[in-house]
Amino acid sequence: MSDHAFATRAIHAGQAADPRTGAIIPPIYQASTHVQDGIGNFREGYEYNRAGNPTRSALETQLAALEGGVNALSFASGLAAEDALLRGILRPGDHVLLGNDVYGGTYRLLTKVLAPWGIETTTVELGDANAVRQAFRPETKIVWLETPSNPLLKIVDIAATAELAHAAGAIVVVDNTFASPALQQPLSLGADLVVHSTTKYLGGHSDVLGGAVVFGDDRFYEQVKFQQFAVGAVSGALDGWLTTRGIKTLAVRMRQHSENAQAIAEWAEARSEFETVFYPGLASHAGHGVAARQMSGFGGMLSFKLAAGPEAARAFAESTSLFQLAESLGGVESLISYPPDMTHASVRGTALAVPENVVRLSVGIEDIADLIGDLEQGLARIAR
Ligand SMILES: *Cc1c(COP(=O)(O)O)cnc(C)c1O
Repeated sequence: MSDHAFATRAIHAGQAADPRTGAIIPPIYQASTHVQDGIGNFREGYEYNRAGNPTRSALETQLAALEGGVNALSFASGLAAEDALLRGILRPGDHVLLGNDVYGGTYRLLTKVLAPWGIETTTVELGDANAVRQAFRPETKIVWLETPSNPLLKIVDIAATAELAHAAGAIVVVDNTFASPALQQPLSLGADLVVHSTTKYLGGHSDVLGGAVVFGDDRFYEQVKFQQFAVGAVSGALDGWLTTRGIKTLAVRMRQHSENAQAIAEWAEARSEFETVFYPGLASHAGHGVAARQMSGFGGMLSFKLAAGPEAARAFAESTSLFQLAESLGGVESLISYPPDMTHASVRGTALAVPENVVRLSVGIEDIADLIGDLEQGLARIAR
């Protein structure tokens, strides 16, 4: 599959027709174990399903092909994937350098769950090369970054960060959930590993939780796979199959998400109700140049500050109807949220806190005129 383009790989990698019946879609292997042809004589290596399931294998092949990796592992959630990666690679005394705007759940996992087991974490502004250089310790094993970030869509230069990290003897993990591999390929920019919450754009339909680790080479695969097997936070067959199905339309969905978000960002930038619009596709965005270089589209996430302040921001988040008030992102349907009280409530008062007048949109792929109409009626409602 590696000689085919992205949209082709997304549809065909790991998805050969069933050899027995010719069913064009490989079956959902809803089974907990596999019959052995004699003790230890497994068919295609499958025995007990925590160790391996054919539907999960198909998804893992597909995920590796999407990111240009050599291997991938699929998990029950994005955080389960992150946990297996971190415990597979780190040992007590190791240090993780975290971008200061990463997903709050990643920060919580490191500082609340893994810290008592001896993992040290500090946060840094990854846009500041001097600060990054000073933040390295001899024990720094991983630099963890997210670009674009949540919810202010900050852009980190992946290639430049990878160079700094490698010079300091650390590896780079990119959480590629926001861009998706349709728009950004971190492994080709020097990252060592990619993680995903496949719950978001890869699944794409807000109907399944999942996570993945994708490996740029063979160094860490066995360690993380052992965690997957020994701890068991695997994706179930039906969940894996739904994710596979979502991925097949990823390329076309991301084009429409990006087109709709660009139109809304430009609409918002022209309105006085919004003080700042955060979208990497806007020339006014601080990361626009780097984003244009390392992404092939700017994605479906954007946020803005309401000029009238926090109360107006809260009211606006409750004023729309097509944009439904909910956490999460990346589905075909549009969502609106108020990060300070929703996704970012747990990081209030920390280095990861966000401004109190910010509203975030996950722009879906509905008709753009309907979406802008919905935002306009919301503004009219809060102005009354
Ligand atoms: C949602 C999310 C996660 C966590 O994934 P779950 O599937 O909810 O466990 C991690 N990183 C980012 C950027 C996310 O948006």
